[in-house]
Amino acid sequence: MPEMPEVQGLVDFLGTRLPGLTITKVNVGNIAALKTYDPPIDALRGATVTTASRHGKFVDIATIAPTTHTTADAAAGPHLVFHLAKAGWLRWYDTLAPTLIRPGKTPIALRVGFDDGSGFDLTEAGTKKSLAYYAVQDPQDVPGVARLGPDPLDATFTRDAFAALLAGRRTQIKGVLRDQSVIAGVGNAYSDEILHVAKMSPYALAAKLDDAEVERLYAAMTDTLAEAVATASGKPPADLKDAKRRGMRVHGRRGEVCPVCGDTVRSVFFADNSLEYCATCQTGGKVLADRRLSRLLK
Ligand SMILES: [Zn+2]
Repeated sequence: MPEMPEVQGLVDFLGTRLPGLTITKVNVGNIAALKTYDPPIDALRGATVTTASRHGKFVDIATIAPTTHTTADAAAGPHLVFHLAKAGWLRWYDTLAPTLIRPGKTPIALRVGFDDGSGFDLTEAGTKKSLAYYAVQDPQDVPGVARLGPDPLDATFTRDAFAALLAGRRTQIKGVLRDQSVIAGVGNAYSDEILHVAKMSPYALAAKLDDAEVERLYAAMTDTLAEAVATASGKPPADLKDAKRRGMRVHGRRGEVCPVCGDTVRSVFFADNSLEYCATCQTGGKVLADRRLSRLLK
């Protein structure tokens, strides 16, 4: 799943390609992934892209309406907002193929083409479809965007702001970091990495972290994300997934060697997924119980 750094990489890429281009093609491949009906998705056709930006893990392509030709008299056009979810991706084409897509019979959820012949497909592999896209007048009309907590790389997201978010939360820090309404953009992979850098147990209770721990976690989060964004930025979409995988120290590396201490990276079931951690670095050598497994054994 792409998280904030990969989405930022996509946005940076789209930001170098799209502004000034007019949308000429909007082909819906999976109608179930289109979550809005007003304005109609076809309202994007003829609109000219102004910017590409990011809200958490959402990509936001802003436009000016077809009837205006200069930014001075520009009437805001619809925004195309999308979330790639678990198995979604964006495929960029300098020259978009003229072939038609057949709704319901393609991994392509949406195809967008531009007046210079370029374009992209939003694709989703697998059977469990959760990629979503929206045509909206205002990105805040997307419930998932409206709900977002602060962005951890925003200048206003200080150590104190982070401490205030954690205070009173009697839940495990792993879940807090992944909660988009608390902090925007961090998912299962980067929360594993952040906790490993912070040398902190994923099961630590947010409310119980002392000042030094909050400080360490804040630094680990901002450093890890800033580094990953720097790695992702400037890469074409096709390279972003591999770059993410290569950059991981513990996430997805069960059974491999911890790059810090040499212990074996362990995995444990958490919520709807598994997490990876290093017992020596993060839990004082204690192996975390797999709650799902122990429940089954009882
Ligand atoms: Zn370690």
